[in-house]
Amino acid sequence: MRLYFDAEKFLKHDDGSLQKRIFNDRKLTNPKHVFALVYSTTKYKEYIQQIIQKSKIQRDLKPKISNELLALLVHDLVFSPRGRIESGKHPIKEAVLAHKTRLQAEFIKLKLKYKVKSVDQLPTKENDDETPVRWFRINTVKIDPERFFKKHPFFATLQPVNRFQDLAEPGFIYADDYVPNLYGIHPKEKLSSTEAYTLGEVIIQDRASCFPAHILNHQREHAKVIDACAAPGNKTSHAASYSPADSGSVVYAVERDQKRVNILRTMSEKALGKSKKKLIQVLHNDFTKIDPQDFADVTGLIVDPSCSGSGIFGRASDEEESNDQRLEKLASFQVIIMKHALSFPGARKVVYSTCSIHAEENERVVIDLLSDQRVQDQGWRLASREEVLPTWPRRGLEPEFVALSRDAEVCKQLAGGCVRSNPKEDGGIGFFAACFVKEAKAGANRVEEEAEEAEGGEKLEDGEDGEDEEEWTGFG
Ligand code: SAM
Repeated sequence: MRLYFDAEKFLKHDDGSLQKRIFNDRKLTNPKHVFALVYSTTKYKEYIQQIIQKSKIQRDLKPKISNELLALLVHDLVFSPRGRIESGKHPIKEAVLAHKTRLQAEFIKLKLKYKVKSVDQLPTKENDDETPVRWFRINTVKIDPERFFKKHPFFATLQPVNRFQDLAEPGFIYADDYVPNLYGIHPKEKLSSTEAYTLGEVIIQDRASCFPAHILNHQREHAKVIDACAAPGNKTSHAASYSPADSGSVVYAVERDQKRVNILRTMSEKALGKSKKKLIQVLHNDFTKIDPQDFADVTGLIVDPSCSGSGIFGRASDEEESNDQRLEKLASFQVIIMKHALSFPGARKVVYSTCSIHAEENERVVIDLLSDQRVQDQGWRLASREEVLPTWPRRGLEPEFVALSRDAEVCKQLAGGCVRSNPKEDGGIGFFAACFVKEAKAGANRVEEEAEEAEGGEKLEDGEDGEDEEEWTGFG
């Protein structure tokens, strides 16, 4: 019973890191074992309590023992893979074993209630925060995808499945239907200990978070790109992988936070290696302070600003996150940063994204931008569904666009131009992306023209620029 008495005190007092407290306790003979027991008992605590209560074991138990000790014993008897209480004969062990049938009957009822076959399928706080799929992309800046599977046989041994929902256990791999060179595997697969990961030849990145770079540049038409809110740099390095094979290609990665700039630099160096290191240029700056005229040759931008993060597991239910005032503040910052991105004279495509599920930060930001006179005058429109991952089924929220048009068809079109991903259900985090496009003016060098305007050149009055108006098909 020594193991259980040792574990009991750690279950009773839960101040500070469990791991540190257990491994720093010199009196323990088997800290590893104690840690595993306390950790797993804590994980299934709610269910263990349900079983103890329903079986009414405490009423009949003699000798009386603490709730914690009972939870540990019930854990081992019912929840552990071995299904038995460790240690030799002991009156406490015998007392609990006398109620084994009752406890097991309650456990069967619990499994039926939650419609699960085994303990590890029970929903816990821990797996609430876990991604259902581990997504990774082959870093094509460093390795050719075909060579990748030859060089790293572990990945070639995984059995392909057609849907990410079929990744029920390790041993399988799903090649994504939407983003090239992106794969899904079971989260328990030991990806981060592979050589491919250490070498930066694979990059772990949620599927939906790969949408912006793909939407922006899958046709590789943008040699100069800005990632306006770049750290830690997932979208930056993904954008770099779409750069045209042109020695002048560059992704400017802008980040205003000093600490995050350091992470961004490290991530970028690892993703590029020495030979391609010029493909990403990190700029430690506030994006809104950057003069667009200094980047007149930039044609594509990714804007993935700070947001509530409500699409990230475990955060959506947090009431504070959806606090109206906070969302309002975030949304106005998101609009400001987007307006700045849309003012770059050479920009033809700007992809906006968040890992939020709230319309305030998503469709309503798009609506604010589409309603803005200056944005309209600049010739921006929301890209259509055909231009933005057309086969991805989950699109923007149609009713939101009623704020722009009462025509249901127009709302459908605008919502169709947006992409949404629901947390878990779509295989990863909750996400939103929308793309703004502007056609180059036929027969005119728009970059030079806009530069002139900005320098005080002749500015067309509203409505004078017929061509721009015609281009404006964002809403009716
Ligand atoms: N795109 C990143 C990725 O995929 O790895 C995640 C970006 S994170 C959601 C937002 C980042 O924008 C934060 O690192 C934040 O410090 C930065 N940021 C916020 N406001 C900024 C600004 N005005 N200029 C530059 N960076 C900004």
